Amino acid sequence: MKYISTRDNSKEYSFEEVFIKGLADDGGLFIPREVKKYSAEELESLSSLGYQDLAKKIIYPFIGDFMTVNELSDIIDKSYSVFRKSNAVDLIKVGDTKLLELFHGPTLAFKDIAMQLLGNFYEYYLQKNHKNINVIVATSGDTGAAAIDAIKGKKNMNIFVLHPHKKVSLVQRKLMSTVKEKNVFNIAIEGNFDDCQNLVKSMFADKEFSSSINMSGVNSINWARIIAQAVYYFYTYFQIRDDRPVNFSVPTGNFGDVYAGYLAKKMGLPINKLIVATNQNDILHRAISNGKYEAESVFETNSPSMDIQIASNFERLIYDLNDCDDNETQKIMTGIKKDGKYIIPKNKMERINKDFLSASMNEREVLDTIKKVYTKYAIILDPHSAIGFGALNKVNINGNNIVLATAHPCKFPEAIDKSIAIKPNLPSELQYIMDEKENYDIIPNNLSKTKQYIKEKIQ
Ligand SMILES: *Cc1c(COP(=O)(O)O)cnc(C)c1O
Repeated sequence: MKYISTRDNSKEYSFEEVFIKGLADDGGLFIPREVKKYSAEELESLSSLGYQDLAKKIIYPFIGDFMTVNELSDIIDKSYSVFRKSNAVDLIKVGDTKLLELFHGPTLAFKDIAMQLLGNFYEYYLQKNHKNINVIVATSGDTGAAAIDAIKGKKNMNIFVLHPHKKVSLVQRKLMSTVKEKNVFNIAIEGNFDDCQNLVKSMFADKEFSSSINMSGVNSINWARIIAQAVYYFYTYFQIRDDRPVNFSVPTGNFGDVYAGYLAKKMGLPINKLIVATNQNDILHRAISNGKYEAESVFETNSPSMDIQIASNFERLIYDLNDCDDNETQKIMTGIKKDGKYIIPKNKMERINKDFLSASMNEREVLDTIKKVYTKYAIILDPHSAIGFGALNKVNINGNNIVLATAHPCKFPEAIDKSIAIKPNLPSELQYIMDEKENYDIIPNNLSKTKQYIKEKIQ
């Protein structure tokens, strides 16, 4: 499969380049020039596969020039062997709705599903090409833990994770800081998540620094993450065997997870609507409900993994809406950078609303939803999953409705306690982290100090 950048589609890239680079040099996002569309018969032939075998079929066409089908097969089996469910994910009933639990991986959030695969892709690439790299990533809590678990102990690579000091939950921090492998470095930055992200961006932009340390990134715009996430939409769709339309409600921040659902739909999976569920940081809800994609200041909410100002992956949808016009996409993205906004024309809104609905949830509504679901069904939703659940009720749509449960409730105990006065337990395999020695260094929000720290550790 050949890839192009949303801002210049004249040049083609291989999957390997797309995976290692993450972002195109022109600032655009990578997407396939063309996506394979499955026929009804082909879908039927996939429909009884277990999760791992389905993942092999769905992912292979995207990466065929990177490794053989057997190598991919081994990597997928290895990646999902660390999950607590044999099919990696689990679909459970909650009244008339279904909950797709995506948090059965090593760090208790859906990000493990893509990140475990990425870790093994890196290992494969580095061994084959005799290279080494340093992954540097900013996290508001979940990405960092997932990336650390996926990369810890791997040869020829180190991982540096920048988290905002005292602004991640205790469980989130311990999942990162109790990891003992020598190639893992946790940095608590005296600042907020945006500060961490800006430090990483500046380090990437500093070509002298980034190439001197072979810097690489694993943030949510990496195409490899998107394809890994598309798999569970197929898997879930095939579990449902009746004729009503299938809708997915997806708690989202960066438009990554829900874009994976849109990709599945483009590949021919008959999804009816994708519901974009946001917290009070509702730029995507404002875009999808009334065409105003406009940055505002970020609130700190009880669903911190969705506290964003700009939804990076939205550029991929903008490219589609503009009929793959790279110049137009470039213009719109420049406008967003300059004026902080994009007013989506009416004809494009009609196209968006064929695939997407949206709703946003405020803090009170999130806590109320956790309480309602617990009281009625004895199921504890984490705040992010509760946003998916509540948004589904707000858009009020009939059919087979599936809510993506993106994190285990024990990761966000403060919100659960506030809502239902319960402290959810960690899965027994992970309880040891609460007493384990922690390892992280506190660094001021300062670019040269951060670079110096990284340089010293690499020596
Ligand atoms: C990252 C994250 C999200 C948002 O995912 P996007 O890909 O940014 O849409 C939602 N829930 C949890 C628990 C997360 O960690």
